[in-house]
Amino acid sequence: MMYPAAMWKPLKDATVQCCLCAHACVIRPGKKGQCGVRSNHDGALFTETYHAAAALNLDPVEKKPLHHFLPGSATLSLGTMGCNMRCDFCQNYSLSAPPRTGKPITGQSIPPAMLVAEALRCGAKSISYTYSEPTVFFELMQDTARLAADNGLLNIMVSNGFQSTDCLNALNGLIHACNIDLKAFSDVFYKERCGARLLPVLENLRHIRRMGWWLEVTTLLIPDANDTDAEIRAMATFIHDELGSDVPWHISRFHPAHKMLSTPPTTAVQLEQAWQIGKDTGLHYVYIGNLHGHPSEHTSCPSCGNIVVRRTGYKTTVSGIPACSKCGVLIPGIWNSPPGSGKA
Ligand code: SF4
Repeated sequence: MMYPAAMWKPLKDATVQCCLCAHACVIRPGKKGQCGVRSNHDGALFTETYHAAAALNLDPVEKKPLHHFLPGSATLSLGTMGCNMRCDFCQNYSLSAPPRTGKPITGQSIPPAMLVAEALRCGAKSISYTYSEPTVFFELMQDTARLAADNGLLNIMVSNGFQSTDCLNALNGLIHACNIDLKAFSDVFYKERCGARLLPVLENLRHIRRMGWWLEVTTLLIPDANDTDAEIRAMATFIHDELGSDVPWHISRFHPAHKMLSTPPTTAVQLEQAWQIGKDTGLHYVYIGNLHGHPSEHTSCPSCGNIVVRRTGYKTTVSGIPACSKCGVLIPGIWNSPPGSGKA
């Protein structure tokens, strides 16, 4: 079902330009943009995702992953089909890939009011826009986030970070926390393996910090693709120097998927080496992801080493936030829901 799209401009001869992400697709009448979910009908742009929620689950917030945001809380997680990248290693390709190849865009119409009511009914503290790429369901995200905020819920965006600046600005004040992928530190990697570019992602990471959203960064560490010491150090240095040493960095284990089925999973040793590079670079909070039970899942005080949030899988025990119970150092993050949150 079509819904009028936001963020586009008319060009000549009923052609339009979508301004939602850094691709800035120029779309002729009857055609779609690269994501496959925004189409030009007679000189106007429409989205096909507004009425097509394809995944809706109650998740622990640690699964996003966010480790410095309402630990132990539940987040209602929403996604549609479609993505503005085409990563060879996509771990959610059944949702992200079909629209690009002309396959049907399926999902349920769940209006924002219903999503917010469901989040409140389930006791969620937040709504997450996640699973595929929330940029391509911007209109549904924006309307839901606005209503969620009015009802005391917080909003989380889990994204590849390839939006336009206008898109990010339009979400400012609505999104409280985000996890953004930094997939590699090479433009060639972004071009060849993701159909995108590195620089817009770096600029968006800087912009998100300037806007003050709570930010955590994730890198999927892929054997023989983005895992040299030099590249890992370059990513860690960028986070440290340009985003800040308190920005948490999640280094996640790759599992063979989509077009990279013959690449082996990342080993624990590779992940630990990357973790060490992150710590040596000066990052205070580096986490290994998708390797359940690893001690790096805990949040430790960067000053005295005391464990302030203990995680075993998705079981979370909080014992020293916002200030370390041993030495008093403040641990950055959003630790409490706003007053009145989670109430109908
Ligand atoms: S969201 Fe991005 S990929 Fe999709 S039509 Fe707009 S500019 Fe193109």
